[in-house]
Amino acid sequence: MSYKAPVDDMSFLLKHVFDVQNNFKDIEAFSDFDYELYDAVLEEGAKFAENVLYPLNRDGDEEGCHHSSSGVTTPKGFKEAYQQFCEGGWQGINGSPEFGGQGLPKALHVLVEEMLYAANTSFTLYPSLTAGACAAIAAHASDELKGRYLENMQSGIWSGAMCLTEPHSGSDLGILKTKAEPNDDGSYKISGTKIFITGGEHDLADNIIHLVLARLPDAPAGPRGISLFLVPKIAVNEDGSLGDANGVSCGSIEHKMGIKASATCVMNFDEATGYIIGEPNKGLACMFTMMNKERLSIALQGTGLAEVSYQVAKQYAVERIQGRSTREGQKGAAIIEHADVRRMLMTMRSTNEANRALSVLLAMNIDLEEHSQDPGVKLQAAKTVALLTPIAKAFFTDAGFDNCNHGIQVLGGHGYVREWGVEQFARDARIAQIYEGTNGIQAQDLLVRKVCADKAETLQALFGEIAETIAASDPKFTKLAEQLTVYLAKAKDLTSTIMQQFERNPAAAQGGAVEYLNTLAYVIGGWLWVKQLNCIKVLSELEQQRKLAAAEFFFEHLMPKIDGYVASINNGYDAAFALTDDII
Ligand SMILES: Cc1cc2nc3c(=O)[nH]c(=O)nc-3n(C[C@H](O)[C@H](O)[C@H](O)COP(=O)(O)OP(=O)(O)OC[C@H]3O[C@@H](n4cnc5c(N)ncnc54)[C@H](O)[C@@H]3O)c2cc1C
Repeated sequence: MSYKAPVDDMSFLLKHVFDVQNNFKDIEAFSDFDYELYDAVLEEGAKFAENVLYPLNRDGDEEGCHHSSSGVTTPKGFKEAYQQFCEGGWQGINGSPEFGGQGLPKALHVLVEEMLYAANTSFTLYPSLTAGACAAIAAHASDELKGRYLENMQSGIWSGAMCLTEPHSGSDLGILKTKAEPNDDGSYKISGTKIFITGGEHDLADNIIHLVLARLPDAPAGPRGISLFLVPKIAVNEDGSLGDANGVSCGSIEHKMGIKASATCVMNFDEATGYIIGEPNKGLACMFTMMNKERLSIALQGTGLAEVSYQVAKQYAVERIQGRSTREGQKGAAIIEHADVRRMLMTMRSTNEANRALSVLLAMNIDLEEHSQDPGVKLQAAKTVALLTPIAKAFFTDAGFDNCNHGIQVLGGHGYVREWGVEQFARDARIAQIYEGTNGIQAQDLLVRKVCADKAETLQALFGEIAETIAASDPKFTKLAEQLTVYLAKAKDLTSTIMQQFERNPAAAQGGAVEYLNTLAYVIGGWLWVKQLNCIKVLSELEQQRKLAAAEFFFEHLMPKIDGYVASINNGYDAAFALTDDII
């Protein structure tokens, strides 16, 4: 079964729904770019995803990665694909041009990333981590470190890894133990063990640059005592050539449910030489530059896998004959005739297209935050990014897994067995709900930091934008605009309710955090559907029909979930605390 990157939908979002070039008109860094270029990048990205990465996906899952005394090997074909990926300039697509990157907008990059994740999630994780590491180095490292590392990382010659997690320290990074002791020359000796490190060791690149969280000897306890270090696998000489091996080794790799071709490593740092990034004890804030980039990237893992799963399920559903057809002249029914199968396919498509739109909106705000010359625009964009990132991470990855699960269900028993490959999509999607901060932690971040601590100011501004879209919506879609008005009011009320609950009892209020996040995600999804409908005139008749039907399905069958979330949050979470730990 084939995968076809949804290039037309992507181009529609960039050009018509978000008109990104107009939004970027004051951004000097993007002044040379135009839609012709964006379309060409999408086309080339699609070819790479469809023709190079997708064919490796199944075999990569079967072969997996292997660890031996000489290191970690990736599956057959990965090295060659990685070489092609680097030669195509894909690693540095959104990277800083000062260090060899192409400096293209994040709004374009997210769409390419979605295709890559759809085609081969395991492969895509390696460059995704590198891109995140580059962003943190570019934002916070000294000029010397940038000069020595960034160019080779942005070209993919060297890759990056993110080393936070330790055996006893997962969601709670404040208790991590890895030590950093100062050397006389300004560098540090890093010692400790990190677990679950994606791409911690592999055979794709000549060097691996680890960004490691560790504590200085006099560091205060907790998250305020964490510093960030750049620790290369192989030392890099002043002239940029590779020197001796550093004290970095891979102890083992994990055997996992999915993403089997992505090496998940136990990494031992044994007095390895590291270089501080940013200020001592302020490493967590620097690491957040990487983590936020990764959170969006992982959100795209969700959308990508949901999209490929939808495509395979649809192809299967038109061919599989089961039951009697109600259509004239046909005996057997293709299963796509059955309402329940259509329900699943439309759920997949309508969430995928809403989530894709949100990824462009979020990325466009990242571009404005990073490049706008207007301090007001920059600040508002930064706040919007902070608000939307946990929503995208959690909602897209939950939808990613749910939609992959629908994909299996559409294929029935043939989905559960290996043959058609959809069970791999679900296995590969599952981790996205856990890493980069579990979805429960994302919901907590949204409620506590992004809404309550902000007195919901950024959210209110977003609600204002939604109201503007409703006011300006095409009269043909009045019914949907009216429904959106109703759900917007519910989201506003719910925001007041949960903020009051949080003030009274913060611990219990967090019981509703996931439902609150989902409520906002559905309202934003509905908003972005109306925004899309307002632009559909540029599409063919057929595509207009498809968009309208998907939007109506989203409003009629998915947004009503909000009523359940509202009821549940209004009920409070006392029942969850009614039992003692031993009898729950
Ligand atoms: C395949 C894979 C790849 C990974 N890649 C990387 C990587 O590259 N770099 C890296 O550093 N790490 C990586 N990780 C680690 C990953 O980020 C952590 O597993 C994740 O953050 C959760 O930590 P934990 O597993 O220790 O779970 P825990 O923190 O023990 O959480 C267990 C459960 O408790 C909940 N929970 C915990 N604390 C709270 C709280 N305060 N409030 C509410 N609920 C809470 C969680 O939501 C979760 O449901 C990877 C993990 C895997 C499996």
